[in-house]
Amino acid sequence: MRKEGKNTQQLGRSITPWSAVPASGSVVEGLKDSERVGAVSFDVKTLSNNSEEHITREQVEHSVLVFVLNKHGKPLMPCTAGKARRLLKQGKAKVVNMTPFSIQLLYGSSGYKQDVTLGIDAGYKTVGYSAVTAGRELIAGELELRTDIKRLLEKRRTYRRDRRNRKWYRKPRFGNRGRKDGWLAPSLEHKLRSHIKLIERLKQILPISRVIVEVASFDTQKMQRPEISGVEYQQGELQGYEVREYLLEKWQRKCAYCGKKNVPLEVEHIVPKSRGGSDRVSNLTIACHECNQKKGDLTAEEFGFPKVQRQAGQPLKAAAFMNIIRWKLVNMLGCNWTYGSITKYRRTKLGLEKSHVNDAFVIAGGTNQERTGYIYMGKQVRRQNRSLYKANLLKGGRRKRNTVKEVKGFRRFDKVLFGKVRCFIFGLRTRGYFDLRDLEGNKIGGDVSYKKLRLIERSRGMIQEVRSAIPLRPEGRSLLAQF
Ligand SMILES: [Zn+2]
Repeated sequence: MRKEGKNTQQLGRSITPWSAVPASGSVVEGLKDSERVGAVSFDVKTLSNNSEEHITREQVEHSVLVFVLNKHGKPLMPCTAGKARRLLKQGKAKVVNMTPFSIQLLYGSSGYKQDVTLGIDAGYKTVGYSAVTAGRELIAGELELRTDIKRLLEKRRTYRRDRRNRKWYRKPRFGNRGRKDGWLAPSLEHKLRSHIKLIERLKQILPISRVIVEVASFDTQKMQRPEISGVEYQQGELQGYEVREYLLEKWQRKCAYCGKKNVPLEVEHIVPKSRGGSDRVSNLTIACHECNQKKGDLTAEEFGFPKVQRQAGQPLKAAAFMNIIRWKLVNMLGCNWTYGSITKYRRTKLGLEKSHVNDAFVIAGGTNQERTGYIYMGKQVRRQNRSLYKANLLKGGRRKRNTVKEVKGFRRFDKVLFGKVRCFIFGLRTRGYFDLRDLEGNKIGGDVSYKKLRLIERSRGMIQEVRSAIPLRPEGRSLLAQF
């Protein structure tokens, strides 16, 4: 499966495909007028002059797949870095994108295509994706979404309100707002659009034939009011999983009696089976081992928890917003879907850690395919806001222009090479001294002259880098995975 052991030492190190950095400033000029990374002149010789250590370089050099477009810009199957380098050297291809590194063939090639399935682990904050063929994984990555939509809209609203209040009398207006059917809150609409955009971008570099989205943690249709319809705790593995997932969701993944989280939780009968309690969902709850033992033959009420007994009969509250988005996504794309409980079951069976990438891999139908060994980590950013002027007036009531867009050919969130470090411009200053940070926002240089920087690529709504696939830290993985 994954070559985790070797990569562990690379924890936190960032790697870009075989130092895809031209030696001259040619890229800067190539990019200046448009953010589209088209027809970038490229010095092939520098490709192997990598600044990373040997292991990393070789590992990455050998494993990073290069995405290939045909002469007409349609995606073909990706090729190895070596082959891409040869094609570039022979002048048979040109570079069209840096991250993920993609080339376009300059000669006609029909190219063969395989079935590529894309799995999407749709998330509120992070989207995981993984594209697989029958034999191997082609790309895997995570995209962190923006979460500031709501806050920014509220800010804008107060600014506008303030401004209007300062102005002349305005006749009250009303009835001039409407919401169309299927309206989503802007923050949710943004998430939906982001998912679609991501999928579209991937479709531009890979011949994806099928998209699968995980819609919900369990099948709500099947589980419609199981308390009333009398679904029982079946013994079949998958079915057992679904009821358990349902119960975990309903009881918020904590012990119903002591409220403990992140401990192994057991499905527990409110009226014990020994006293005629049924296997129905309305008689089940989630408890830690201790509470389960302590409760013994007692009913929840006798144990001192009449509330639990009452709540057990209540169906689960309306599914979370995220489920709406996921379903919308499926409807808009007309793609396939799967359920989280199934993903979890299969991931556990494969012995994979819980991570967005692994989930996406499993969603895509991944089993024993060769993994990529690296991950594209991405984060949505915005280079500008839309205000023309700063909100606060200067002394004397003068207004200050909002922000600069470009300084010495650099823009906000450009990926740049500073010495041997690849980082991003987080703070753009007219003086030409910038604030450089890594993807996570850790400081690389607070006040670095533009003269020391070389542009690698523009942000295009997100910043991205390649990381070796270190075994991802399980996120809040309680011992539930043992079930
Ligand atoms: Zn407990």
